Amino acid sequence: MAIQENLEKIHKELPEKLKLIAVSKTKPESAILEAYRCGQRLFGENKVQELVDKYENLPKDIEWHFIGHLQTNKVKYIAPFVHLIHAVDSLKLLSEIDKQAAKNNRIINCLLQFHIANENAKFGFTKEEAFELLHTSEFKTFENIRIVGVMGMATYTDNENQIREEFATLKSYFLQIKEKFIPEDYFTEISMGMSADYKIAIEEGSTMVRLGSSIFGIRFYSKFN
Ligand SMILES: *Cc1c(COP(=O)(O)O)cnc(C)c1O
Repeated sequence: MAIQENLEKIHKELPEKLKLIAVSKTKPESAILEAYRCGQRLFGENKVQELVDKYENLPKDIEWHFIGHLQTNKVKYIAPFVHLIHAVDSLKLLSEIDKQAAKNNRIINCLLQFHIANENAKFGFTKEEAFELLHTSEFKTFENIRIVGVMGMATYTDNENQIREEFATLKSYFLQIKEKFIPEDYFTEISMGMSADYKIAIEEGSTMVRLGSSIFGIRFYSKFN
């Protein structure tokens, strides 16, 4: 089947330690199971209800990554089980994740999402906004979240140099945060790279790529849904 072939082909291109998040949004549970049977355990979704349904129906050793824009009022639905929230883009959201994680007796891993693309429709912090957040006294009170890295999406363009520069910018933010704010060993992740640009992302230091269409085939709408 195609999913197995796609996964085998991709694995040959990935450095050994790189994490592959199979982005299964809009795809049926049967497709996820097919990837699961090939050994894939990390899956990414971007809609809360869809993620909750899939979590309930699918094997419990799947590690679920929430990769979309997360509304504060929906954190509670995924807090019991989510492994990593990729797109944290406000103090308010972080505060809610901390609260819901505490209720569930968990520490929830998060990435700070940066706006690195030259497009204004995307979410994410500027460097200044993120540094300001990391300085706040409220941030220092959070006990049930762990910021383990950064995430970003490059501009959707054919211009490889531009994509490369944007990924390099994200890597530089990662290094600055590590030096100034979060020196801990767990601060390790740079989530960057999608089907169209993951090879460049890997060259620029990605530690986790989020691949959807190159594993499961195309979706019939824009990559930002
Ligand atoms: C949909 C999506 C992906 C995967 O996109 P593909 O181009 O299908 O690989 C990766 N990251 C995010 C945040 C997404 O929403």
